[in-house]
Amino acid sequence: MSSRVLVIGGGIIGLTTAFALHRQGYEVVLLDKNKENGCGTSYANGGQLSYHYVAPLAAPGVPSKAFQWMFRKASPLKLTPRLDRQQWRWVMNFLRHCRAKTHHRHTLELWTLATLSREVLHEWQHLLPLTSAGWQSSGKLVVYRHQDDLQHAWSGHLSDHQRLLTAEECVELEPSLNDMAAKLAGAILTPGDEVIDTFLFCQVLTRYLHAQPNCRIVNDCEVTGFLQQGNRVLGVSTLTDNQPGEWYADETVLAAGMDSYRLAGMLGLELPLYGLKGYSLTLPIRGKCQVPYTSVTDQDNKIVYARLKGAPGEPDQLRIAAMVDMGDRENTLNPRRIEALKAKVKETFPGLEGVDEAQAWAGMRPATPSGKPIIGPCRKKGLWLNIGHGALGLTLACGSATLMCEQISGEKPRIDTRPWQLLKGGPKAPIPTTQPRPRKKPETTSEKEAPLYGKHATHHHDAATTKTPM
Ligand SMILES: Cc1cc2nc3c(=O)[nH]c(=O)nc-3n(C[C@H](O)[C@H](O)[C@H](O)COP(=O)(O)OP(=O)(O)OC[C@H]3O[C@@H](n4cnc5c(N)ncnc54)[C@H](O)[C@@H]3O)c2cc1C
Repeated sequence: MSSRVLVIGGGIIGLTTAFALHRQGYEVVLLDKNKENGCGTSYANGGQLSYHYVAPLAAPGVPSKAFQWMFRKASPLKLTPRLDRQQWRWVMNFLRHCRAKTHHRHTLELWTLATLSREVLHEWQHLLPLTSAGWQSSGKLVVYRHQDDLQHAWSGHLSDHQRLLTAEECVELEPSLNDMAAKLAGAILTPGDEVIDTFLFCQVLTRYLHAQPNCRIVNDCEVTGFLQQGNRVLGVSTLTDNQPGEWYADETVLAAGMDSYRLAGMLGLELPLYGLKGYSLTLPIRGKCQVPYTSVTDQDNKIVYARLKGAPGEPDQLRIAAMVDMGDRENTLNPRRIEALKAKVKETFPGLEGVDEAQAWAGMRPATPSGKPIIGPCRKKGLWLNIGHGALGLTLACGSATLMCEQISGEKPRIDTRPWQLLKGGPKAPIPTTQPRPRKKPETTSEKEAPLYGKHATHHHDAATTKTPM
């Protein structure tokens, strides 16, 4: 009999976690409060699998820049101070992580996780029709307007595959940058980085999991509380169509994005999470207007441009994502910020058609002060956290899911789990080398199928902190 795991949240983190657990032979139930999965922060994000651009926001120089930016309409970062303990605790913690040494260490740790993510996604590709979600390796071109910034960035580049380009070489590679050529200092090209439409990726994962006999995905099902016995979480209580329900499991994974803060609060856990609002624009690419094929990051304006492949017969889409607004509680659209973003886009790509009609969207990045996700147990037995992926949830999803699954099963993890733990007291993680771990051969996990269990299962298995499916 295999163990059953409940996953709370059907965003990219919950779905990849469910997928990894299913591959290990677990019975999986995934609950999401929305009608469809992938409608939270994962919905219309930048679409970048930017494995080589993982540096956390907490960096030397950011606090002083943030102060200057505070009063600019089009600033990439906007802080609205509030009388809010959560905000100030988070900001104070964030400042602590801006030290150069800490920033460097966290960047390397995130790079290791990103490298694992890439490996895992490539291992999964034979099971998932990723190209139908617009997955492609279009490379990433980060363009700079100032030579100093370019040289500084190049001095910290992570991989030998990256290349430094002059302004002329940028335009040769990407003729769509012609209009800004005179202002360009140059760029860093990362050939292997990829893009995917995150919502469509969520749909691909959902369809796959739906078709598995030992998997259950329940939408329109809001988790309203936890079922506990002593210090152990036994499952969750829910509301579906105003009907209360209870779901029991051996292990429960919290992967509810920004809502994880409130849900964990019900158990007396105060997670170091804060919502950093960001915006995106999506427009169909029609006619001959010049749009980059490579993913472009305009480093000065902190705007990313990704071309997402359209479904057969549909035009490709251009996804533009930007801005960090700190202090907004709701993910509502701020018309002033959207206008400011559109103005910057038109300035950078004057030939781009349809910017005014672009579909605007806002989402909350579930961010930790360090910029690193939390992947592991917490002080409630039976409850696991896969949260806090901030601006990198898509990039880190498959690696985080794998780490989560390895910890639940007690299997030897493929990378060090210590940098991602919430619980203190473990040995300090070593500083990783500048090289990510060598590529590992894809696993040949046998896909055992466990019997389907009924909705609102009413029994639970004996408590155990780690479970290996049989
Ligand atoms: C503008 C913008 C651009 C971005 N660009 C990129 C990018 O290019 N690359 C990248 O790697 N990352 C990017 N990100 C970050 C990325 O989108 C997030 O890190 C990621 O989507 C977080 O995924 P998640 O599954 O944790 O959260 P979500 O996608 O928010 O999923 C959480 C899920 O939990 C469900 N849920 C919540 N509460 C409950 C409850 N009580 N009961 C049941 N279900 C519940 C929600 O319905 C939701 O589906 C961007 C973010 C923004 C805002």
